[in-house]
Amino acid sequence: MSTIGFIGLGNMGHPMAANLVKAGHTVQGFDLVTANLETAGTNGVTVMANAAAAVKGADAVVTMLPAGKHVLSVHEDIAPAMKKGALLIDCSTIDVGSARAAHAIAAKHGLLSIDAPVSGGVGGAAAGTLTFMAGGSKEAFAAAEPVLDPMAGKVVHCGDAGNGQAAKICNNMILGISMIGVGEAFVLAEKLGLSHQALFDVASTSSGQCWSLTTYCPVPGPVPTSPANRDYAPGFAAALMLKDLRLAQEAAQSSGAITPLGAEAAQLYALFESAGNGGKDFSGIVNFLRGK
Ligand code: NAD
Repeated sequence: MSTIGFIGLGNMGHPMAANLVKAGHTVQGFDLVTANLETAGTNGVTVMANAAAAVKGADAVVTMLPAGKHVLSVHEDIAPAMKKGALLIDCSTIDVGSARAAHAIAAKHGLLSIDAPVSGGVGGAAAGTLTFMAGGSKEAFAAAEPVLDPMAGKVVHCGDAGNGQAAKICNNMILGISMIGVGEAFVLAEKLGLSHQALFDVASTSSGQCWSLTTYCPVPGPVPTSPANRDYAPGFAAALMLKDLRLAQEAAQSSGAITPLGAEAAQLYALFESAGNGGKDFSGIVNFLRGK
């Protein structure tokens, strides 16, 4: 079993690190927030005094941080302290440009690296069933697979450096747009006197079928496990959806892709957030579409 450094023990990082401990790895963890360090410590993570100490002697290091600027600053800090040839895995959701810059920092210090953002939320992190979308060389991916395995339901190699982040923002742009589409359909159905259940029974077995409808149905009733049944407690918070839609728009602008529905979805989620709904599940946008 290996020694793994883990930086960023927040909502996602702490259960992910706990699953690495359960798999028998020695996990050396660090976070800026003392309470997060204490929680990680109770789950078997060896708490370290700083990031450089957490990566010392590690075969692999995982970072799970808020945004690109945090990742680049932490990677600049830890890369020189890591063992030559060790593996640096960033699981945060960040912009493609910063992800590629993080790979360059790793290469400069003789490290293997992979960008491996996740889908599955805090539930998937706790259950060890996250989907990892990985970008990097074949060699780095082969080294990363056994490290990611105890935290994963599925690990997909999406191509070279940055392609994990590219896959993540493309997927979440589909999700943001499709949730608005499903919400609009329920709002229209209400106006037309069609029940939620009748629309669900038809659309879930017809061409309107999609994950936003069948797994995460934005109105209470048809899918008892969806956040709509618990007053839109997340789940996947609207603020995180807005973050991902903005990353997608940034990438669309820098690459010249035309994504009008992605742009509209980003604007609607920005309005939803500024109305005080950032902490609600993103499926709560249906209430906003009703004008509530
Ligand atoms: P979080 O804010 O709970 O955790 C981030 C942690 O990083 C915090 O504990 C913070 O103290 C720590 N941190 C920040 N700067 C640091 C530094 N310099 N050194 C050490 N620690 C530092 O966020 P989260 O929900 O765990 O999300 C982490 C990443 O995963 C984000 O990029 C997010 O977009 C992505 N993500 C989140 C979810 C979700 O459902 N929460 C789902 C998929 C992806």
